[in-house]
Amino acid sequence: MAPILLYHKVCNFDPSGTWVTPSQFEQQMRYLHENGYSTITPYEISEKKEKTVIITFDDAYEDFYYNAFPCMQKYGFKAVLFAISKYVGQDNSWDVNFGAKKKLMNWEQLREVIKHGFIIGSHTVTHPELTRIPIEQVKQELLNSKIELEDKLNSKIDFISYPFGSYNQNIVKVVQETGYKLSFTSSPFIKENMVIGRMGIYIIDTLIDFKFKLSKENNIPYLFEAIKSHTINLFSHGTWIWKNFESFFKLH
Ligand SMILES: [Zn+2]
Repeated sequence: MAPILLYHKVCNFDPSGTWVTPSQFEQQMRYLHENGYSTITPYEISEKKEKTVIITFDDAYEDFYYNAFPCMQKYGFKAVLFAISKYVGQDNSWDVNFGAKKKLMNWEQLREVIKHGFIIGSHTVTHPELTRIPIEQVKQELLNSKIELEDKLNSKIDFISYPFGSYNQNIVKVVQETGYKLSFTSSPFIKENMVIGRMGIYIIDTLIDFKFKLSKENNIPYLFEAIKSHTINLFSHGTWIWKNFESFFKLH
């Protein structure tokens, strides 16, 4: 199976850890291009083609549109963007107790990237941790986001990414019943029938790390990168790193 990469923000600073700079992103895309990689979509996930990669972005931040979209187009690459239906065109207020508000792509921008062959998936309606809410509410999050995104974007929504990577088998059942074809989580170690893991790419990754993240799974550097990505994800989307910075400076 092709390596599946997970990005969040492409910007010049963010306190979360789940970001890369625009020049880092450019360097990574150039590396893929120069080494003969092409991007495929999750529709082609079972094809056994060499040198393919699936690139995904959680949350669909506006900085994708300005800092990643032009670069990806230059190399003829495509990606999947997982949008939060209630927050389209708004900011990330589900996640801003440290005051770094960030805008998310609006409907117009989402429609434009679709025109260029990019795929939109659901990242629920309100970005809750699905394992912590009643199953009835899970159903609403999965179904209503699909309906609204399909309606406003006039495009099929076949894939979903779990907020905080968090799911269980009851949730997977709802994913199937709602008509999604595949779901994505943030740990690179997961490979189930309906749930696909992804390798997170972050600010601390050098180009060498990036190369290992693309490599086959049975080598030590890959495993190291997978553990690193998994660990950052555990603390991502939230305030853990920032809060620990804060308490560190308060104490010292
Ligand atoms: Zn998210």
